[in-house]
Amino acid sequence: MTRMMSKPSKGANGTAATSKPAPAKAAKPAAAKPAKARKGARPEQAPEGSEQLMRHSVFDELAFPTDPNNLYRQTVGSMLQAADLMNLPHELKIILAQPKNEIMVHFPVRMDDGQFRLFKGYRVQHNNALGPYKGGLRFHHDVHLDDVKSLSFLMTMKCSLVGVPYGGGKGGIKVDPYKHSKAEMERIVRRFTAAIAHDIGPDYDIPAPDVGSNSQHMAWIADTYSSISEGSGKNGMAVVTGKPVEIGGSLGREKATGQGVVDTLVEMLPEIGVDIKNCKVSILGYGNVGSWSGRIVQDKGAKVIAVMDHTGAIRNDGGLDAHALAIHCQKTGGVAGFKGATAIAKDEFYKTKVDVFIPAALEQMIQEPEAKLLNCKVVAEGANAPTTPAGERILQQRGIEVLPAILCNAGGVTVSYFEWVQNKTSHAWELETVDRELNKHMIAAARRCRDARKKYKCDLRTAAYIGALERLKQAYLVRGIFP
Ligand code: NAD
Repeated sequence: MTRMMSKPSKGANGTAATSKPAPAKAAKPAAAKPAKARKGARPEQAPEGSEQLMRHSVFDELAFPTDPNNLYRQTVGSMLQAADLMNLPHELKIILAQPKNEIMVHFPVRMDDGQFRLFKGYRVQHNNALGPYKGGLRFHHDVHLDDVKSLSFLMTMKCSLVGVPYGGGKGGIKVDPYKHSKAEMERIVRRFTAAIAHDIGPDYDIPAPDVGSNSQHMAWIADTYSSISEGSGKNGMAVVTGKPVEIGGSLGREKATGQGVVDTLVEMLPEIGVDIKNCKVSILGYGNVGSWSGRIVQDKGAKVIAVMDHTGAIRNDGGLDAHALAIHCQKTGGVAGFKGATAIAKDEFYKTKVDVFIPAALEQMIQEPEAKLLNCKVVAEGANAPTTPAGERILQQRGIEVLPAILCNAGGVTVSYFEWVQNKTSHAWELETVDRELNKHMIAAARRCRDARKKYKCDLRTAAYIGALERLKQAYLVRGIFP
């Protein structure tokens, strides 16, 4: 096994800590998965104005990659724009522009045919000023360090904005989970857990599911960690969230991100002049986030009229049955072939006239061409970083409101926090309690964004970053920067 780390640190700021060795395993399968459009695969020209986002003295100071399509540069660029507007101290800009720890491991796993294969895994710990590192694990054949860095950065911002006592982290394994047997995935996940076991923990870094991973994988991680880690007898199962309810998972966690998307829409749509009861919705991606957003928004009276995933695009102007479509996807692996709709082309999907468009697939899927095609009033970002700066500029020019990911999809980590609290107090909450508390956090976060937008006269994404940065700034003011 190979391990590469940038300076490991346990302290909140630059506090150095000792590097640790590593150990071993756990995972699950599900519906067929996506052939992800590789980020930056289609180079785009930044329209006028977005160049400003692409340039910043901090990029030069920290020797960032110069490619404007680089996802990490794009996500940090949005934060720096907000940081400049609120006059965030320079030292906080540079601290937040880089993750504290970047852990990369290589580990061998025996396949069902007896041969060994070597896998690559990541855990990036972006910041822990507000609490333990927190964030999902992505199992995808195309996962890269820059993706994981970007996603861990977004977790720091999201946890701060939504008011949960966590920092940000993210990880993943370069693997297509749908091409392995359940037994192979279990060995891969358990072996990966062993490789990073010294770098995670219930009070230090708490992984969760993301694209390609699920509650069964979390169960294997929790079991492996509890079996091999020193001191894990105490709350060892709390090392991950998104677990099955049988072993300490929370009611409402599976639907939480979709629930949070819809809670955000309910709070924000009235000021945009859209009535959720009569609105039309299209959804890109129909996995966990997309399908739960679809089901819950339909239960509120909206009509889901178009959906696209990696298997194709479908449309029904009278409204799809979002619940039946979720069952179809679980059985067949995608939306293609769903009887209650007509197959349409990709461009037609984007051009479908709706009130709300929910991207809930992968990063950087709304670039300039898609932004020009979209025919909606609101983009509610269920996915992380689905809109590129160039795409966003087009949306702004066309008067389309964007509800940013760090607000819109914060429901998942919020209920993960509730799961962690339930594990630590050995007290299981009722679903009503989970939903009510989630709603409170989502509304408070939406109002924080709205207040910042009014104060700084900026767009909602910048306002969301300001809301997140205000809390981080206060934490650093009180804690100071070691030594
Ligand atoms: P998932 O694996 O359950 O679903 C992903 C969906 O994207 C699938 O429907 C897949 O078909 C679709 N997709 C993949 N590639 C595509 C392509 N090229 N074209 C069209 N569709 C494609 O993943 P998920 O958990 O729903 O996560 C989706 C997004 O939401 C990710 O950005 C993730 O980081 C983010 N997110 C997830 C959670 C959570 O709790 N699961 C929380 C916050 C944010």
